[in-house]
Amino acid sequence: MPMRANDTSILCVGSVALDSVETPFGKAERVLGGSAVYFTAAATLFHPVQVVGVVGSDYPLADLDFLTQRGADLSGIERGDGESFFWAGRYHFDLNSRDTLETRLGVFADFQPKIPASFRKARFVFLGNIDPVLQHEVLDQVESPEVVACDTMNYWIDGSRDALVDLLARVRILIINDEEVRQLAGEPNLLKAARWVQAHGPELVVVKKGEHGAMLFAKDWLFFVPGFPLESVFDPTGAGDAFAGGFVGYLARAGSLVPEYLRRAMVYGSVMGSYAVEEFSVGRFIDLPKADIERRVAQFREITAFETHVGTFAGR
Ligand code: AMP
Repeated sequence: MPMRANDTSILCVGSVALDSVETPFGKAERVLGGSAVYFTAAATLFHPVQVVGVVGSDYPLADLDFLTQRGADLSGIERGDGESFFWAGRYHFDLNSRDTLETRLGVFADFQPKIPASFRKARFVFLGNIDPVLQHEVLDQVESPEVVACDTMNYWIDGSRDALVDLLARVRILIINDEEVRQLAGEPNLLKAARWVQAHGPELVVVKKGEHGAMLFAKDWLFFVPGFPLESVFDPTGAGDAFAGGFVGYLARAGSLVPEYLRRAMVYGSVMGSYAVEEFSVGRFIDLPKADIERRVAQFREITAFETHVGTFAGR
């Protein structure tokens, strides 16, 4: 569907967290994290973002100034009485799997999102990984978004499944990882799991597969991107949200969901995921030159493009 140029910011709602992360390469304690923070760190490289969330009295909000400097409006982040959302995780040797050691909702437990009047006209909305009940409340307050993209995780598939399945009817793009989409659909085959999701609402399903890349399932076509090959992967936390930031950020900037833009958005998503994993927390996004991003996109093209054989191969 062609659309007019997008003159509104992306509205992003998600967790604004403190994370303690342990990987085979080191440890970081109570560093900036959360779905909204990773998403915004990546998406603002493409398009302005308005963020809604809540933090506790312990959150170093000034450390998010780098986001404001490049087009994030953080005035929708409330400060609640109590502790910020806290997540602790430990990664295994191959960094592809992790154990959640602790999730403390803190001020998120009583959070009721209030979307400021100036945020309600957003045409692109990203519902970051939070309770699906809150994701519904956000959509109730937005006027008429054209593109609602949504992420979730096993914690909510287990704990808030009915609200999540209902939410799908209001979502155009579901961004989810492979293990989670299998769990949500109750279906081990990825293609069938994506079709199950589409039957419940979203026309587009993006399935993230960690370092193995991501797949986009549209109604009658699909597209695959690998993960960007890196020699040093340090901390995979937030790769999925950074992917979503690159993907939605690029689409919001392009203003349209035509297949050509969707394919390119997948590449920008994968490139943003690659920056998330190179340092703890959002460190790599702080001074990321745009030329560096374009260099990675060009390398991506080199490692994935090939020429098809001219003529018939059989019989030679
Ligand atoms: P990802 O590695 O892309 O899955 O995202 C990890 C981020 O999600 C971390 O920064 C956590 O703070 C945040 N997170 C972890 N569990 C939850 C949850 N149950 N709800 C919302 N955010 C979460």
